[in-house]
Amino acid sequence: MAQTPPSGEPRRRRDPAFREKVLLAYQYRCGVCGHDLRLGRQTVGLEAAHIKWFQASGPDIVPNGIALCSLHHKVFDLGVFTILPDSYQIVFSQHLNGDTETTARFLTHQGAGLILPQSSEYFPESSFLDWHKREVFKNPARS
Ligand SMILES: [Zn+2]
Repeated sequence: MAQTPPSGEPRRRRDPAFREKVLLAYQYRCGVCGHDLRLGRQTVGLEAAHIKWFQASGPDIVPNGIALCSLHHKVFDLGVFTILPDSYQIVFSQHLNGDTETTARFLTHQGAGLILPQSSEYFPESSFLDWHKREVFKNPARS
């Protein structure tokens, strides 16, 4: 029987295999920039991001995950960019700013397509992308 914490919400357990499944789906590279640094056989700075946050009841399933480098994971969770549900296009917030070179490095991905998983069954699910765009992304989007 599942334990129930004091809040009354059933406690959800993280799937320990989530990270590995997501990284495999994306062939061990960042879905935005292609970062695939390894030290021997160990990936470095590559993470499995939840599209709909685990804390917001987002499930530990591959269609709710994207392999992202540490920097793109961080800014994705802050709403600096989002991914459009129909085209898988990456769009950045107009609120993104910084020195010219740093910002330019981010914006080279503006309008580009997400580097998609190796099989369509792993593609990000629209409902999760919609949630991220609605709840996390800092509108308005750059065009
Ligand atoms: Zn990246």
